[in-house]
Amino acid sequence: MDFSIAPEDQQRLQTLHRLGREEMRPAGWRADRAGAPLPVDDPFFVRMLAEGFGRTRWRPPGADASSEETQAAPNKASSAVAQVLLAEEGAYWDRGIGVALPGPGLGEPPILSMGTPEQKERFLSPFVNPARPIWGAFAMTEPSGGSDVANIKTRARREGDHWVLDGAKSFSGNSGRAEWIVVFATIDPALGRAGHRAFVIERGTPGLADFRIEKKMGLKAYESTSFFLADCRVPAANMLGGEAYYTQRSGGFKGAMNTFNAGRPAIAGMAVGIGRAALDEAAAFMQAHGLASDLRLRDRLERSRRKLKAALLLALRAAWLADQRQPNMVEASASKALAPPAAFEAASFAMEVMGLAAGRGDHLIEKLFRDVKALDIVEGTGQIQRVVMARHLVGLPN
Ligand SMILES: Cc1cc2nc3c(=O)[nH]c(=O)nc-3n(C[C@H](O)[C@H](O)[C@H](O)COP(=O)(O)OP(=O)(O)OC[C@H]3O[C@@H](n4cnc5c(N)ncnc54)[C@H](O)[C@@H]3O)c2cc1C
Repeated sequence: MDFSIAPEDQQRLQTLHRLGREEMRPAGWRADRAGAPLPVDDPFFVRMLAEGFGRTRWRPPGADASSEETQAAPNKASSAVAQVLLAEEGAYWDRGIGVALPGPGLGEPPILSMGTPEQKERFLSPFVNPARPIWGAFAMTEPSGGSDVANIKTRARREGDHWVLDGAKSFSGNSGRAEWIVVFATIDPALGRAGHRAFVIERGTPGLADFRIEKKMGLKAYESTSFFLADCRVPAANMLGGEAYYTQRSGGFKGAMNTFNAGRPAIAGMAVGIGRAALDEAAAFMQAHGLASDLRLRDRLERSRRKLKAALLLALRAAWLADQRQPNMVEASASKALAPPAAFEAASFAMEVMGLAAGRGDHLIEKLFRDVKALDIVEGTGQIQRVVMARHLVGLPN
């Protein structure tokens, strides 16, 4: 295994380190204190756009790879291994702000893996070199539950050259401000996974309505939005991949799962980043308050750090397998199951070390403590990762 990364990804890591310290952590703190996501016209987003954020990794056919204007954003790596390291570094500074940044977001992977060349061009070209901050989004989760992805209830029925969608989606990141949302629906629940279809629903489509920003305990810097689809008429040309895509595969389910298998090691990396930030705060506090000589605290600090490092190595292995085009489902799930609890332990330890200074709620550590929990929930909870791995162990289908 080789976890070395390309020089351009090293460069991205350095950029992220600088911007994380100077821009991202202060912006995340500002949103947390306000208790609300930064508005779309916040100057922070314009500054980040000037630094190259907000761009797609899709390249127009025949694009000049060396041109500044077609470079991918500093948070988009050229390999899965580097993506884990960028995710770790970004979350070290502020995970909520990392998601709030403009760009195609979680909607990009399904468009890249399932979309036709025409759809990639239509939906991703605005993100090649955007003149203003714009967002894309991904909506799978429904009010009835997010874990049982195979049983989504949002219905899609064909009417002429449109699909008509009815249902509700919850907790979709940035969907209220997005140019388009990749929405998963079913043409027939009785078909299970084979009935899944993915649609790109553009902003302003009639029937895409009632956006409500949810309250969150942490990660307040970005919007998690619920919305309804009521007789929402989506052009047939917006079904990702076209009909042929689904007759060849088991519906859109595989496309969604590929999105998750690609994302899980990066989520694990983010958890490690938050944990590392918490331990850095704890160590600084111990040094500043005469606690560095306490053998028990030092021992707990070291143990917690070791668990984070082990979790990161597992995430890197899962990512390396993806880079080698080898199956990585078990490793991706294992890293996603392992890293958030390790990060939660790190944040809890830091809270304990700081005592009242943390409990008052005006120290970064208290924010990290609230932020870290979501990492155990998003893109498949810890329990679901364990269900996936246990089924695999006894040879049951995924
Ligand atoms: C901050 C945040 C951002 C999010 N962003 C997005 C987004 O951009 N797009 C999107 O589509 N969704 C998003 N989600 C939703 C997220 O994917 C779901 O919250 C997640 O899938 C869990 O679903 P649920 O919360 O409905 O819990 P449920 O599925 O209702 O599960 C409830 C509990 O039961 C457990 N459980 C469920 N089934 C089993 C089982 N078979 N065995 C053992 N335990 C089980 C779960 O682990 C969980 O603890 C986001 C959520 C959060 C918190």
